Amino acid sequence: MFYHVKELQFNARVSKPDPKFARLLLEQFGGSNGELKAAMQYFVQAFTAKNPYPDKYDLLMDIATEEFSHLEIVGATIQMLLGGVNGELKNATEESEIMKLLDGTAAKEDFIHEAIINPQFGVLTGGGPALTDSNGIPWTAAYVNANGDLTADLRSNIAAESRAKLVYEYLMKFTDDPSVKETLRFLMTREIAHYQMFEAALATIQPNFPPGILQGDPRYSNLYYNMSSGMDATGPWNQGTSTQLGETWQYIEDPLQHVMDSNGLTNLTPTGTDRTEKSVQQLNEELSKLRNEEITSATAEIDAQWSTYTKTGGLISDL
Ligand code: MN
Ligand code: MN
Repeated sequence: MFYHVKELQFNARVSKPDPKFARLLLEQFGGSNGELKAAMQYFVQAFTAKNPYPDKYDLLMDIATEEFSHLEIVGATIQMLLGGVNGELKNATEESEIMKLLDGTAAKEDFIHEAIINPQFGVLTGGGPALTDSNGIPWTAAYVNANGDLTADLRSNIAAESRAKLVYEYLMKFTDDPSVKETLRFLMTREIAHYQMFEAALATIQPNFPPGILQGDPRYSNLYYNMSSGMDATGPWNQGTSTQLGETWQYIEDPLQHVMDSNGLTNLTPTGTDRTEKSVQQLNEELSKLRNEEITSATAEIDAQWSTYTKTGGLISDL
């Protein structure tokens, strides 16, 4: 269950209304890398993790809930940046308090004009945040990535945190308001913290590469295809040892010839690796068994109950 506390996690403040920046900030409210996306992504991932990996469930739900708290901060900041727009719409004939702070009719007209830079603030939301991005595109569940496998989901989260961090970094360039900057810096910093939490959680799952269960075909896992002419760059991505499997990269200078000579890659023997079809199949079986047992042993077939309640408060199942 969720229990709402009315105070914000961070003491968000604004120095003055700024409808233009409010519009940009919508990106982190209902945008593709925003707080709702993050919250929903970790929330949805948590269901699959609950029984087999209660520790990761705890992590995912804690971070999901923090992201909802960030969504609240972003929404509150947008509302404050929109200042008197809502009141002004409700009372078009009199000046609201916030409008009096803005000196004179010209300033007021400027303000309204700025607010209407996002038409939705004027004619749809009435001067409040909307679950859209900065261009008014509605939030969509298509932003959410969850694949029922923590080795994929946690990597996805590391990428999501990277992007969320960057969007805050970009946003900070578009406001001079020291109070808003402080809030953005807090939100940005939390994404840096979350990145490392997901990274650490991923490392506790072994093996975690390749994502999922099935191992790759040893004939193809270390081939680098030189698919262009001109500058042929070399680096650790095509020379030396591969990062996870520790195989030797095979640089295929002439991919066309390679494909022709190998009858469409079917007549190849694994090179640069100790892995064989046999060893791969064995790993597949071992890992299948391990993960299957891990998950099914934690899934009740009858009398399934999600939570266990204790009189002293606090859930045992919350571990
Ligand atoms: Mn966040
Ligand atoms: Mn985050």
